Amino acid sequence: MPDEVVQAMSDAASASLNMVELQAVASRQIAEVTGAETGHITSGAAAGLTLGTAAILAGMNPGILDRLPDTTGIANEMIISREHRNGYDHSIRVAGAKLIDVGMNEQVAGAGVRRTEAWEYEAAITDSTVGVAYSATKTSQPPLEEVIRVAHEHGLPVLVDAAAQLPSIANLRRFIDMGVDLVVFSWDKALRGPQSAGIICGKRELIASVALQHLDMDEYFEIWDPPEDLIPKSAIKGIPRHGVGRGFKASKENIVGLLTALRLFSQGAYADEAASQRGYLEYIADSISVCRLSLGLFCPMARAALS
Ligand SMILES: *Cc1c(COP(=O)(O)O)cnc(C)c1O
Repeated sequence: MPDEVVQAMSDAASASLNMVELQAVASRQIAEVTGAETGHITSGAAAGLTLGTAAILAGMNPGILDRLPDTTGIANEMIISREHRNGYDHSIRVAGAKLIDVGMNEQVAGAGVRRTEAWEYEAAITDSTVGVAYSATKTSQPPLEEVIRVAHEHGLPVLVDAAAQLPSIANLRRFIDMGVDLVVFSWDKALRGPQSAGIICGKRELIASVALQHLDMDEYFEIWDPPEDLIPKSAIKGIPRHGVGRGFKASKENIVGLLTALRLFSQGAYADEAASQRGYLEYIADSISVCRLSLGLFCPMARAALS
């Protein structure tokens, strides 16, 4: 972490901060740099996937908030392309959702040429569907825009795992600009922030539900006074108890550290270093291709192996 991030975390450690107020400050800063309505700091992208799914399942219904991950008798299906399944989708299942796979992994199986197509999501929608999960990489199919269109035609939210899609600064806004409802980013990969920190951002009502399931809820309703732009108190009849996200607590040190790293990153403070590291990688890549070429030319065994 840059010295400035370490210093901010150290300062936070000796301060007493109101956590819901701190998350409200974070939500405004995240909104500014991502273009999302609002955002929230979690203990990582995986925690963001669990909290985002919990928000999709429960919204602002305190009864459902209290019983997750038990989804007996309520709609709980998230549609996902088979190609997008990975170890991190355990985090979606932890909230109580059931993943419904669509498409086939035919290219990897060596048994076909087609990737998952948008109509396959539509064909899987039933009364039990609550949303769509999408893992974003440079080569993800079908295009996210098509998946959003299908989901929104059916009033379903789209949750995007973009954990590893930074440090491209443009990606901070890209998924929100496309219209996704929730997107998660990890902060400990290349962003030089605290190791157990991440962001979830998107639609205001869903982030309010995220906050309700994440923050300390040992409060009296009468005197509870959350910032209205983070949690609109008028939208709920009572305070749910500690939510499914309670175990993913974000510390004040991590929140302050992430916000400092977010400012540095979004202002381009890492750009020079990224360019010089890219230079090293290109040097290695070029050297490897020269080696491959000369081995191929001069050594018949290597040529056979490479072909
Ligand atoms: C790293 C990663 C995660 C988890 O991120 P954490 O911030 O470590 O929780 C989730 N999804 C993908 C695709 C990742 O690469």
